[in-house]
Formats: sequence, C-alpha cells, structure tokens
Amino acid sequence: TDPIIRVRNLSRDFQVGGRGRKRQTLHAVSDASFDVLPGETLGVVGESGSGKSTIGRMLVGLLPATRGEIELFGETITGPSGKQALAKVRHKLQFVFQDPHAAMNPRMRISDIIAEPIDVRGGWTRKDRADRVAELLELVGLSAAFADRFPHEFSGGQRQRIVIARALALDPAFIVCDEAVAALDVSMQAQVINLLMDLQQRLGLSYLFIAHDLAVVRAVSTRIAVLYAGEIVELSDKRSLYTDPKHPYTQALLAAIPRPEVGTRKPPIRGEVPSLLNRPPGCTLCPRCPKAFDRCRTEAPALREVAPGRKVACHLYDGV
Ligand code: ATP
Ligand code: MG
Repeated sequence: TDPIIRVRNLSRDFQVGGRGRKRQTLHAVSDASFDVLPGETLGVVGESGSGKSTIGRMLVGLLPATRGEIELFGETITGPSGKQALAKVRHKLQFVFQDPHAAMNPRMRISDIIAEPIDVRGGWTRKDRADRVAELLELVGLSAAFADRFPHEFSGGQRQRIVIARALALDPAFIVCDEAVAALDVSMQAQVINLLMDLQQRLGLSYLFIAHDLAVVRAVSTRIAVLYAGEIVELSDKRSLYTDPKHPYTQALLAAIPRPEVGTRKPPIRGEVPSLLNRPPGCTLCPRCPKAFDRCRTEAPALREVAPGRKVACHLYDGV
C-alpha cells in the first residue's frame, strides 16, 4: 500500500533571543523522515521539548517547515506551491489538542462547537447541519440531546469526545492527536483511546498519536517513532519496539514506564536534554548514553534500517 503521508528530511528552526540578547537558531526538528500508511497509527514519543508538537503542526499545515518535504495525499505542501497544495487537502486533516477546556469556547453551545468546521466551510442547510451534529455526537458515544448544552455541563472525558466529534465533522482522513488523552485520568484515557481506535476502524482514519511515554502509545500505535532532541532515533513496528528496543534511548524510555506490580518507577535516563541551540558534533544522546563509545562523540549516526521495518540512529548497529 502507498503511504498517505511522506515526510522527507523535515526540519524546523526557530529564531530565539533578540532584544539585547543574542539571536540564535533553535533546531526544534532535524531531518525527520517517515511515512504514514492508510489506516495506521504512527505513535510519536519523546520527552518535553523533543519536537513532537512541532512535527504534528507541520504535518497538518499549521506551521511551515524550514527545510524538507511533506507530501499529503499526493500533494506536496512544502516548497513554492505548497500553499495551493495545502488548500486542496486541508479538509482531510485535523488536529486534536490535549486540553479540552482550552479547545472550546465556554459560551458556545455544543452544537455550535461541533459544527465549527461546517460553518467555516459554509453551504449547509440548517437541517443538514443539525442532523450532522446529532450524527457526530452519537458517533463519539454521546447523546444527540446534548447538542443544546454548554461545555461546563460535561466531564473532561466527555469534553474530549466533543472535541473529537468536531474534528470528525468534515470527514477527515488523517488526525494528529497531540497528547489527546494526557489531561485525563487513567480510566478516562483508556475510554478515549478505545473510542479513537473504534473510530479508526469504522471510518478508515490514520492517526499521528503524540505522547510523552511509551505506556500511552502502546495500545493505539501500529508503528512508533521515538524522538530525542528533535531527531527520530528509532522507528519501528510496535511489537519489535517493546520486545526488542534497539536504541539506548528507547531502552531507557521503556525502563521508565511505571510498573504497578513492582510498585516503583525506575529512574529514566540520567542527565539533561541537550540544548537545541548549539548542537555538538556526534550523537545527540552521547552525553547521557550508557553505551557511548569514541565514534559517538565525533560522528552523528543516521537513521537507517537494521532489520525489516526497523530503523535506528545509533553507532552500536553500524555493522548490522
Ligand atoms: P511537550 O511534550 O512539552 O509538548 P514537544 O515535544 O511537543 O514538547 P515542541 O513543542 O515541538 O516539543 O517544541 C520543541 C522545541 O521547539 C522546544 O525547545 C520549544 O521550546 C521550541 N519551540 C516550539 N515552538 C516554538 C516557537 N514558536 N518559538 C520558539 N521556540 C519554539
Ligand atoms: Mg507538545
């Protein structure tokens, strides 16, 4: 099957500082390359500041890329004719944010919140619009009778369902879920994740599913990309990633998943996330990596295939 999304060497810099302070270039995302296949969920995992949201926002055209290429449904949205290309595919793309409170205007009725994309597009009769809102509410497991209520009448989990209903209003094919369940408690998380997976089956959706840790993405993901300091360090099918993590950073993230049966949380990898301002030569993880050797200090490893469906950026696998 052909991918619906092709990303090649995608990079995003931000200019920071200024006003008396030195202006510097922050490399938020560096040289990310990956595909998204129809109907799959690509999980994206990494610590705070690793570039997850930046990737997600670029993929749906909310943020321009600095370098590299994004092809969505056959349209290249980066480069000189990117704007026109994006206009053609924008209706197929949606973005679901973490915080369902911030995502809704408290003074708007649920029907108007859900119908926002419909209203922006225009051309719907009142009846079609109301029917669609009722259909969307039921699709996300809520009653159509909720249409006239206001956000404060709903729990966090219900609000996230409403946000998801709004995202589905125009029949998207690809949704970026950016920490979409992070604000919910664990049982609510499971419910919303089940809903997202059910919707994926019924509607043939693809997701980019962003989360901080490997526990949350486990259930939803088909494949997982592990980000470290703006770089993809490992990209693998889910099963192999959890049973046989290759990259030392993936290994550390896995070890950091809290395990209820042990009752303790193993410490994550020691040290600080490196500055995205001045990249030292060599591997970005090197100062924190328990397995680093000479070469890691001088030469940056490229992401390359070490087994079918498995890519790793690490010198440990150079001969493989
Ligand atoms: P979190 O888990 O906290 O949401 P993240 O992985 O989503 O983190 P990003 O939000 O993508 O990380 O940010 C990556 C880096 O880019 C961070 O260092 C962040 O401070 C920086 N950054 C993001 N947006 C901007 C901006 N508009 N201007 C300057 N720097 C930015
Ligand atoms: Mg983020």
